[in-house]
Amino acid sequence: MKYCSTRGGVRGLSFVDSLLTGLAPDGGLLVPETIPDVSAHLDGWRQLDFVSLAQAVIAEFVDDIPKPVLDKLIAEAYADFEHPDVVGQVELGDCLLLELFHGPTLAFKDVALQLLGRLFSHVLAEKGQRLNILGATSGDTGSAAIAAVRGQPNIDIYILYPDQRVSPLQELQMTTVADSNVHCVAVKGSFDDCQGLMKSIFADLPFKQEYHLGAINSVNWARVMAQIVYYGYASLRSPEPAAFVVPTGNFGNVFAAFLARRMGFPIRQLAVSTNENDILARFFATGEYARGQVHHTLSPAMDIQIASNFERYLYYHFEQDSAPLKAFMQQFQATGKASLDSAPDDNVFLATAVHTGDTLTAIAEVHKAYNYVLDPHTAVGYAAAQKLRGRLQGPVILVATAHPAKFPEAVAQAVPGLTPAHPSLDNLAQLPQRKVVIPAEIEAVKAVITG
Ligand SMILES: *Cc1c(COP(=O)(O)O)cnc(C)c1O
Repeated sequence: MKYCSTRGGVRGLSFVDSLLTGLAPDGGLLVPETIPDVSAHLDGWRQLDFVSLAQAVIAEFVDDIPKPVLDKLIAEAYADFEHPDVVGQVELGDCLLLELFHGPTLAFKDVALQLLGRLFSHVLAEKGQRLNILGATSGDTGSAAIAAVRGQPNIDIYILYPDQRVSPLQELQMTTVADSNVHCVAVKGSFDDCQGLMKSIFADLPFKQEYHLGAINSVNWARVMAQIVYYGYASLRSPEPAAFVVPTGNFGNVFAAFLARRMGFPIRQLAVSTNENDILARFFATGEYARGQVHHTLSPAMDIQIASNFERYLYYHFEQDSAPLKAFMQQFQATGKASLDSAPDDNVFLATAVHTGDTLTAIAEVHKAYNYVLDPHTAVGYAAAQKLRGRLQGPVILVATAHPAKFPEAVAQAVPGLTPAHPSLDNLAQLPQRKVVIPAEIEAVKAVITG
């Protein structure tokens, strides 16, 4: 399989190149040159357990890592997930919950990042290279990325986060990791400052080259690829083609579902659910993609106004023609909004925004009816599924993106006195912590990296 950029400036990249490239040099996102059609395999794949299906699906996209090596990396990536089947499936009334949070940091990002860390490490060892991964986080991504590469001999990871502005639990999930290749950097500033610092450092090409900087954020194709697997897995276990409801921020997770559908997995509809940051819900209703103010909500991983993976969807909307896509993105970058002629009419996507009151009600209702605790992101999806009831066709599968114990404040706000727990979070406060605190200045970040 070869990879090309959505903006048309890059073609013919191998998988390994696409892994190491991240964002394409023409500013676009990498996508496979063709989408494999797996319909003929589905009957045979229905029997497979999660890891075996992952090995079959990912092999469709990777032909430059020997299959036995790839299979081993995939098996190792999921060996530590605490669910015997890697992902859990729980019935809540007439809706099936697909639990994706059984990895080491209790959010769905582990499913992709655990594999990505191993792919990076393997490829770097083969090439005799080292990588310094630099990332900025407002919460979940930092700990998942750290858990993915901790202890890997040819990678150092530097995570910037706003000092005093991530939740205590989220900070502990990063700073208590003892491996010496992990560097937690608390920046005296905001999340925007952290992202700005990261962008300036990546733009400093001589520094980027000398220190082999790499990124692990959600524009990396390999993350999307790894996420296709669980949609395929759940769809093959559904008695009829299902409708997936996906709590959405950067559009990475739901885009993987879109690709799974295009590959031939039995998926009928995809429901995008957002919180008050509703740019995507507005787009699917009207065809206008217009940036708004960022609202801070109980589902912080979805507090996003510019969905970095949305460009990949638009590329397919424009039938893989880079010219109209580029015009759309350029207009959006210049003016903060861009429009299609009308709302997309593809019979696949539905979308709706859910506000904080309804999110809290969803947590309380599900707790009362099923004695099950939703995290606030999954609760947005649950409330969206209720709102879209009349329009969803087929069995409804709700994607559960985080374990509720990561967000105890939101849960207690919905159900006073309820404190969801998980053993991996219980003792963190007793462990030694490591971090450096720096001013929000580019030279200070560089000094941490150059040691
Ligand atoms: C990252 C995240 C999301 C949003 O996923 P996208 O791929 O950005 O749409 C939803 N829920 C949780 C818990 C997350 O960590």
